[in-house]
This record gives sequence, C-alpha cells and structure tokens, in this order.
Amino acid sequence: MASESGSSRIVEGLWRAPGVARATPARLSVDAMGVASVGATQTGEALSSEAFSQLAVSDRVGSIPRRISFADGSSFETRDNDGIDQLLRPYRGPRSGWVHELEKFRPRLIIFVALVLAFAVAIYRFAVPALVEVAVLSTPPVVPQLMSRSVLASLDGTVFEPSGLSPERQKALSADFQKLAALTAPDHPAYTLNFRKGGSIGPNAFALPDGTVVLTDELVELADGKDELVLGVLAHEIGHVEYQHSLRQLYRAAGASALIMLIGGDIGSGTEDILVQGSALLSLSYSRSAESEADRHAVELMYKAGRDPHAIGHFLELIRDKLGDKEERDFLSTHPATPERIADTLRYADQIAGKH
Ligand SMILES: [Zn+2]
Repeated sequence: MASESGSSRIVEGLWRAPGVARATPARLSVDAMGVASVGATQTGEALSSEAFSQLAVSDRVGSIPRRISFADGSSFETRDNDGIDQLLRPYRGPRSGWVHELEKFRPRLIIFVALVLAFAVAIYRFAVPALVEVAVLSTPPVVPQLMSRSVLASLDGTVFEPSGLSPERQKALSADFQKLAALTAPDHPAYTLNFRKGGSIGPNAFALPDGTVVLTDELVELADGKDELVLGVLAHEIGHVEYQHSLRQLYRAAGASALIMLIGGDIGSGTEDILVQGSALLSLSYSRSAESEADRHAVELMYKAGRDPHAIGHFLELIRDKLGDKEERDFLSTHPATPERIADTLRYADQIAGKH
C-alpha cells in the first residue's frame, strides 16, 4: 500500500544489494526534494538513496512486479503498481508505460473516426462504395477466415447435410480443384473444396472470402456426370475469391455505419451479425460486372489448366435450360445469368482458345 505521511509517500517492497539474490523487506519513500530512499522495514537501516528522477523504473505491465534500479547496482521491487505510479506522476505525467502510449493514441483515433463519419454523412451515396474499398483494403486476413468459418458453420447447422457423393468422386474433384487453385496468383488464400448436400439451397456453388468453396451434390448431379462443367463452375468461384467479390458483397450489405466501425477496428455485435450470417451471404446476388469478371477468370483459368475454356458457358446454358427460374436459391439466383452473359462467356472462350 502507498501511504502519505507529510510530503513523503511510502511504497512497500523488497530490496536487493548488488549481486545478492537474498531480498530484504524494505520501504521506498520520496521526500519533498525528490530524493528516493530505501530503508529496511524492520530496522529502519538506510539501504539506498538517489534522486528519484534519475532512477530507472520498469514499465507497468499487468501485475508483474515493478523494478527500480539504483545507480549503485541495488534494486527495489514492488507489486504496488499504483503506489509507484503515484510516485512517478510528478516526473512522467499522469500514466506510464503502455497505458500512457494508449492514452496518447486514443484522441487521434477518435478524431479520425469523427472525420470519416462526417465525410460519410455529407456524401452518403458516394461514400459507401468508397468505404467498401477501404474496408476491403484494411481487412486483416483473420477477418475473412473468421467470417468464412462462421458462415459455413451456420449453414451446416441449418440447411446443409453431409454430401452423398462417393469419396472417390470427391477426391477426384478436389484434386482438379486444387490444380486450378494453384494456377491462380501465388499469394492466393488457402483454397478448400467442401462437399455438402444442399437441401433447400439446391444446385449451387459459392465461395467464401477466405477461399472456402462449397459445392452442393445437387449441382454435381445437374451436370449429368460431366465433371468438366463442374470444374468450370469451380474456376468461376475461384474468380470470385480472387476479385474479393463476396467480401465486397457483405460489406455493401453492412452499410456505411457498420463499415466505419469496421475500418475503425470496432466490430460491434450488429456488424458481426451481418458478417457471419450465412443466409445473408446467400440472399445476395453478385452484380453483372462481378459475374463477368468471374466468368472471364474461369475461362482463362480452365484454358491455362489445359481444360475446356467453354465449360462455364456450357454449364450456364445447361442450368438455364434445366432450371429456368424455378428454384429460389440455386446457382442462377446467386450468380444471375442473362443471355448476353452466356453469349459473352462462350465468345471469350472461343477467342482464348483460338488466339493461342
Ligand atoms: Zn458467380
């Protein structure tokens, strides 16, 4: 305990002579002239003395004992952090160590957030797309990983069931998928292919922001045993990951205020709900420009892998003919396809295949 007697404050602790392991219970006090003195608790014998401002005091880190080193090599150690802080106050300002650093940083952060907020309110309509880009750029890798894990867990808990595809079929598709993934940018995220029975989601495939790709049995069945077409779809999903489309989708849905919190590093419970809800991800359909970017990526990737660059185009034709717009959450609902999109994709594949 730190106590005050007159102008001198006292902190209890242990004193060690230079190079001696054995500690003596002692008291540290600082007098009105700023001279620190250590005296033995029991005998009152004077042990060390020095101007307090000259002493080396270790930083405050949790409840780790503080150490005060004297020039003569002796030291004084105490768990009375508050007492030491009180003694230090006239020499170092209100706080010490990392607590002090944090205090210095905070006003800047508050000013930054306030400026962003004012900016967003002023030009709300134009601010959202800009904020989405800032949020995507400032997203640490751990965020997409957490988002993906919770989206998949929430879908597993609600609509998905374990895949009924044979292990051999899964293994073959996974091996081809990994070859495609390895052909994308060298810094690509850890791609994984996950098989599920889609249930009410039906024939679909989607990519989560960290490279987790989910493929439903229903989509594989729809392709009538033509795994080349399924691979075209997987290449398309890899395109969505590479262009960070799903992260952008989620951020756009989160809205401006959530984005400002996110950029400021404050993930509130509201933001978290939006980011981890599987149904939110699946209720969002990609924009036409995102679809065409992913299609072109699929065409190029399939060609690079020595496979059919027309696969994604043919798959879109197939699914259009077979499904029309019957299902609510199938591949076409989350990846909207227009006749132009299908034609463009096939034309681009012709071009790629003919050019090389
Ligand atoms: Zn798509």
